[in-house]
Amino acid sequence: MTLVVSDSAALRQQVSAWRAAGETVGFIPTMGALHAGHIALVRQAQTECRRTIASIFVNPKQFGPHEDFNRYPRQLEQDLMQLVDAGCDLLFAPPVETVYPPGFSTAIDPGPLATVLEGAIRPGHFSGVATVVTRLLMLAAPDQAFFGEKDYQQLLIIKQTVRDLALPVIIKGVPTVRDRNGLALSSRNAYLSPEERARALILSATLRQLAAILPTGADIPATLQKARDQIAANGFTLDYLELCDAATLAPAAMLNAPARILVAAKIGNTRLIDNMAVPPAA
Ligand code: AMP
Repeated sequence: MTLVVSDSAALRQQVSAWRAAGETVGFIPTMGALHAGHIALVRQAQTECRRTIASIFVNPKQFGPHEDFNRYPRQLEQDLMQLVDAGCDLLFAPPVETVYPPGFSTAIDPGPLATVLEGAIRPGHFSGVATVVTRLLMLAAPDQAFFGEKDYQQLLIIKQTVRDLALPVIIKGVPTVRDRNGLALSSRNAYLSPEERARALILSATLRQLAAILPTGADIPATLQKARDQIAANGFTLDYLELCDAATLAPAAMLNAPARILVAAKIGNTRLIDNMAVPPAA
């Protein structure tokens, strides 16, 4: 059975009852329009925790003024069916006043990690993410919370926030779920026309090529530039494609430590992001 709760007192009461019974609680925050990537987080949580809570909240604070907050897909009934199928114990679907009561004015500034890549293109985005995730973690009080590597920079920032504020929760990252052509699943893929969806495969294909070529000693700046050109040639406007240190996101000039390639690009009205691990050079 999947309980549906919109009220924070009822959420707290249920979590307290589980914890009093010695049951561990895993939490999966989402913005809904659920797909197999979200469900992978639920499955991972189920392997590590006795109880699982998913939340659905389209967080206004993480959207810029000209972004897609209003058109972001909302489909609570379908989402609930998927959570029931997956055996998730509770769906927390709060209204905005529950997450941000009147007078709410605190914002978390995650610092330098939030100023590069996505943070440079979307000012304030990661402050909105860190603020809502902290608030949701305090409301749900789980033992563990699960986030996708699909949003790699977000995962690092949430780990940093939890560490810095000593929030009593363990953060776990879950590998990106892709469709059989390699496209990273995303709620925003719903915006793509069939033609754009076909073109979008260039993102994951390029990342895969880079992850294979770079560790063999290829010239990093030249190889990255070729990759950028290849993505642009497929009709994308690139926001960034960078090779970064996997822990700090500082630009990686050498492959002597775990690295990550991260990409963000727009096709038509849809902005997609993806990333992949790059092993150290052989
Ligand atoms: P969102 O609903 O887009 O805010 O995502 C909610 C959570 O699901 C975040 O932790 C995302 O990183 C994660 N997620 C989104 N897409 C995927 C995917 N394709 N594979 C794994 N996790 C994902």
